[in-house]
Amino acid sequence: MKPILSLHAPPAGHWVGDGFPVRSLFTYNGLGQQINPFLLLDYAGPTHFAPTTERRGIGQHPHRGFETVTIVYHGEVEHRDSTGGGGTIGPGDVQWMTAASGILHEEFHAASFARQGGLFEMFQLWVNLPAAHKSAQPRYQTLAGATLPVQALPGGGHLRLIAGEHGGARGPALTFSPMNVWDGRIAAGSTVDLTLPEGHIAAVVTRRGILQLNDAATLDQAHLAHLGLTGTQLRLGSREGADFLLLSAPPLTETVVGHGPFVMNDSAEIRQAYADFRAGRFGLMPATHA
Ligand code: MN
Repeated sequence: MKPILSLHAPPAGHWVGDGFPVRSLFTYNGLGQQINPFLLLDYAGPTHFAPTTERRGIGQHPHRGFETVTIVYHGEVEHRDSTGGGGTIGPGDVQWMTAASGILHEEFHAASFARQGGLFEMFQLWVNLPAAHKSAQPRYQTLAGATLPVQALPGGGHLRLIAGEHGGARGPALTFSPMNVWDGRIAAGSTVDLTLPEGHIAAVVTRRGILQLNDAATLDQAHLAHLGLTGTQLRLGSREGADFLLLSAPPLTETVVGHGPFVMNDSAEIRQAYADFRAGRFGLMPATHA
């Protein structure tokens, strides 16, 4: 079985804009250095929002050098960016945005959800780009929940494949380096064995319930386990049932230097990103619709 290298409780929360009450389960200055290409994981909610006619979220801001992957469980998120990409995603949907050479975007609760109010819950994962692809063209993939393969797990549960491959099924996300991003469920009283490719580092996060990992650790809600490179087997169990996010990939062994919304390979590239942003070289947001 893959070795459990460390266990991480969630830190205190903070707000991203006025829409996203997040706990950063890891960042590019911490564990993200060790599980590169996974740089950062913000977990928002579950939080109840009262109905409002205000826009809740975060206005125009830049990113460069990586991808943001937004996975929605409750509520609706509306996004617009400087490439003209955008749209609304709801429960079960995923947005895979490649910032690469540079993008401006805004992220808000969808107006319809804000007016109605209700439970809000999502992950935002930052995925690194190999140095050779950091200046690729920005792009935007909407992965509607209905298009994600759902694979039943012998033993009780399922995997929704966002990226990567398991048991012959493949997630639809186009990625710049190999990786698995799986959204899974373990049924109450079940134990399942998953096989990862050789040479992957991995992280498992419990989103709901309590997860038993490799018959060795108990992962409470919002806790994370960091798994080492050796072995291919993972055993997940749950007495009452649990939902989880699993990330795995061959390690990307390039230097990670991040600052704010930019993640590059050295500090000169970070200074260049700020200079380019200040000079307006990240493009322009499309005109706001009435
Ligand atoms: Mn953003």
